[in-house]
Amino acid sequence: MNVLKLHENVWNSLQARRERLPHSLLLVGQKGLGKFELAKRFAASLLCESPLGDGQACGRCLACNWYSQGNHPDFRLLQPDALADEAEVEDGKKKPSQQITIDQVRSLDDFLNVGTHRAGLRIIVVHPAEAMNRSTANSLLKTLEEPAPSTLFLLVSNESLRLLPTIRSRCQVVPVAVPQPKVAEQVLLDDGVTEAGRWLALAGGAPGLALQLAASGQGAWLELLIKRLASGKNVDPIGMAGELEKAIKESKGKLLLKAIIEALQKWQVDLALARNGLPIRYFLPHQATIKGLADMIPAIRLIHFYRDLIKRRQEAEQPLNARLFLEGVFLDYRALFAN
Ligand SMILES: [Zn+2]
Repeated sequence: MNVLKLHENVWNSLQARRERLPHSLLLVGQKGLGKFELAKRFAASLLCESPLGDGQACGRCLACNWYSQGNHPDFRLLQPDALADEAEVEDGKKKPSQQITIDQVRSLDDFLNVGTHRAGLRIIVVHPAEAMNRSTANSLLKTLEEPAPSTLFLLVSNESLRLLPTIRSRCQVVPVAVPQPKVAEQVLLDDGVTEAGRWLALAGGAPGLALQLAASGQGAWLELLIKRLASGKNVDPIGMAGELEKAIKESKGKLLLKAIIEALQKWQVDLALARNGLPIRYFLPHQATIKGLADMIPAIRLIHFYRDLIKRRQEAEQPLNARLFLEGVFLDYRALFAN
């Protein structure tokens, strides 16, 4: 995915900071926009020893070689083990952590206390920054508060409101917006994605998510879900639960229950926005439908539904009967429209 084309403005604003780099930058925006890729491209461009005219890494120098092989001595990536490429769960082995651990943060001490290898810059990418519990975040905060010379922290966050305010305030915030649909569609087409527009619409305009949906062939369930939700008070909770349970089974582990709840949470956000006369955020091609539905729901019910979905999202991680669980969720959804 060509993130430079997707986020040309952000890239230019990052490049404009080259000469006077802050100690820490925080890239924020919804999931699936390509922020992490953007952060990595920026890191590469800073570490490169003969960057191109527009600031991009040359891809040929020694630093670029090290970087592409994942062993540049002045670069560190902090991310949960579960996100590492080689994270494969073997039977009987401990599940990889979904969190950045305090040991990972502490291990930076040695890295920060020696000079840089290439007499340049040291870069640490933290992704996603919200995957830190309080003590881990506090440990990182100490490092941010006493910045080592020639060191740049690049934090990436999908949910910056979940970060410690003290961490946020230590960083220059760089917002990453949903790209223009035409640009995003072209970038996906360039990557050989067919029906790019359709996937993009399903992903609420987030190209990374669209790519994932297209690649996994998992978009069909989402289309089905939208179609059923759109029928509002005429929705058939039992039938719908059956259809989605079938989709889960047929996906052979690719479609998780929590993904369905997350989609429903986005639908709820759009309903609430529409209810308040605001533009919706996710299901853009369904703006008119969502507006029509929202007008039928008392606002207080939407608030309760929002809280219920947060609970459901947690429950969805537990082993449970998917069909019964979904029936309950969709019965709640239908009740939103009850007289
Ligand atoms: Zn280079």
